Amino acid sequence: MNIKIWGCRGSLPAPGTDKDIYGGNTSCIEIIDGDTCIILDGGSGLQRLNNYLAPNITRIDILLTHLHLDHIMGLGFFWPLYNPNMTVNIWGPAASNESLAQRLRRYFSPPIFPVRLNELPCKGELFEIDSSEFQIGNFKITSEYVCHPGPTVAYRLQTGNTVIAYIPDHEPALGSSQFPTNAEWTSGFSIAEGADILFHDAQYSSEEYKTRIGWGHSSVEDALDFGTLAKVKKIVLFHHDPAHTDDNLKTMLAETLQEKKCDFEVEIATEGTLFEFES
Ligand SMILES: [Zn+2]
Ligand SMILES: [Zn+2]
Repeated sequence: MNIKIWGCRGSLPAPGTDKDIYGGNTSCIEIIDGDTCIILDGGSGLQRLNNYLAPNITRIDILLTHLHLDHIMGLGFFWPLYNPNMTVNIWGPAASNESLAQRLRRYFSPPIFPVRLNELPCKGELFEIDSSEFQIGNFKITSEYVCHPGPTVAYRLQTGNTVIAYIPDHEPALGSSQFPTNAEWTSGFSIAEGADILFHDAQYSSEEYKTRIGWGHSSVEDALDFGTLAKVKKIVLFHHDPAHTDDNLKTMLAETLQEKKCDFEVEIATEGTLFEFES
């Protein structure tokens, strides 16, 4: 099984020579296992995937964590949606007053986008999920609401003995005086528990976070505390702030690791990185 990062920036695409190392495209991860293709979020990174889709893939499942623009802005530029021979299923949360289809139509309609959702020629279905369990190929997938503005889920994907956890937008410290000590009361804990690899929000430095409480994101410090609590094997710090340069990201992690010991692997998400696991 291969996992590839096509976008790991948060909030807004941020290209630039000072961001060449970690990349400027927003959230998108591809998981390939045989002829199963699962895509986590449809950020601007999804557009890069067009030229690299394996020819054996005829069905694609896109799992959206939420409908913020940085997680869906690549959908309209994803060629399989315009291919009548492809099946593209989209999974994601509804809102209390709006179906997933209605929410996606806000993006797939003028003046935001020229093509309407019902004009897309591909096959496929929309699946509304909340705290759900479902199966795609060999993957047992669990979704669960997590702390972030608007209905937002995180995903846990298990195949064989490998567990992938994906929580790109998450503020577990919000409103919880017990964070990071009480697993039972921590948003996202059961999604991440014991994961082999956890992709987790780490948008801010600790100083920045103090003025951005309630914006739905984590400091690097809180992301590492969350990883420690969940006993993950590896954390990939994800959803980089659009204002942060490569140097900023390296400094934020180095300064945090001076204060904090982690007994698991830590790395900064980098566009183009491939992770390989036994299926
Ligand atoms: Zn986001
Ligand atoms: Zn968001």
